[in-house]
Amino acid sequence: GDHAARVPVSGKDEVARLGHAFNDMAEAIQRHDFQRKAMVSDVAHELRTPLANIKGYLVASEDGVVPLDGALVTSLLEETGLLEHLVADLQDLALADAGMLRLHPASRDLTELAGQVVLAHQPAAEAASVTLTSTASGPSPAIVDSARIRQAVGNLVSNAIRYTPPGGHVVVGVRPVDNGFTVSVTDNGTGIAPEHLPHVFDRFYRADVSRTRTTGGSGLGLAITKHLVEAHQGRITVTSRLGSGSTFTIWLPSTATLSG
Ligand code: ADP
Repeated sequence: GDHAARVPVSGKDEVARLGHAFNDMAEAIQRHDFQRKAMVSDVAHELRTPLANIKGYLVASEDGVVPLDGALVTSLLEETGLLEHLVADLQDLALADAGMLRLHPASRDLTELAGQVVLAHQPAAEAASVTLTSTASGPSPAIVDSARIRQAVGNLVSNAIRYTPPGGHVVVGVRPVDNGFTVSVTDNGTGIAPEHLPHVFDRFYRADVSRTRTTGGSGLGLAITKHLVEAHQGRITVTSRLGSGSTFTIWLPSTATLSG
């Protein structure tokens, strides 16, 4: 039920301390249970939208309203892609929660990785009429799981493109700092209001629901990015101004002791 069991506690003896410990545990379990229920409800909501769209297209086609032609197949593939992406994100979060996000670390050049991410997102940037460039001060050798770091930086770049209006700029910068390197993604897009900023790394959090609805985000990207960075013993921070843009900065230690 929704009520955590409690035991009456009085006095300062051993039994009373046990009672307190029990009550604390009961409250923690209740809190966790609430979060789990909220998460399942959010997941259901996110899955429903693309599924409803797919069904809608198929029903329209069955009714003969819309021919099952190239355009419809493209729309169906887009919605299926959203579902696929969402399921992959949920799997990464489940792995992170279970402490089973296994890294495959190797010595890699972060400047090269950033270049690969920029190249991979060039078509999306062009489609959005946003210029996407990278700056680096030279090679930045680090020990990282290259696929996971590409995924983390890719999430930031993909957000930066999505939240920047046509004509805007996105810059990926890699630079050496004390004890490591930073990879930053700066855009001159919509920016994030101060009241939303502390929450953007929360699961399913969206600063502007009406806007993000149309951009197709699930609100999981930054939560996953944070997990991936922290699995590398790194940190991620954000600074932003509403209307002028955002900078997300990943800091990675040069001498990470990675498990995996
Ligand atoms: P989403 O899939 O909704 O983009 P994310 O976890 O990647 O989810 O981001 C969470 C929220 O943070 C977004 O919905 C958006 O409101 C905000 N956000 C993230 N990156 C940016 C950015 N570069 N510019 C403006 N807002 C951003």
